[in-house]
Amino acid sequence: MARPVRFEHTRWLGDKRSMVVHDLDAALESCAIPELMSSEQFGSFGPDLLAEARNRGYHACRHCVRAATD
Ligand SMILES: [Zn+2]
Repeated sequence: MARPVRFEHTRWLGDKRSMVVHDLDAALESCAIPELMSSEQFGSFGPDLLAEARNRGYHACRHCVRAATD
């Protein structure tokens, strides 16, 4: 899947509605990233790390985050 242009330098993208974080390097159709983009209910992280997303209460997406443990 093509990476959204505005997140060219972002790997981890969070959905604020579901509190799920996606790995844009591995995102699948089922992640519905275009729908998340159009909702504008997304957020990136600083630093751009899965650990940072988890610290903010996000859960790893089961579709694209292969190292997911939750
Ligand atoms: Zn995902």
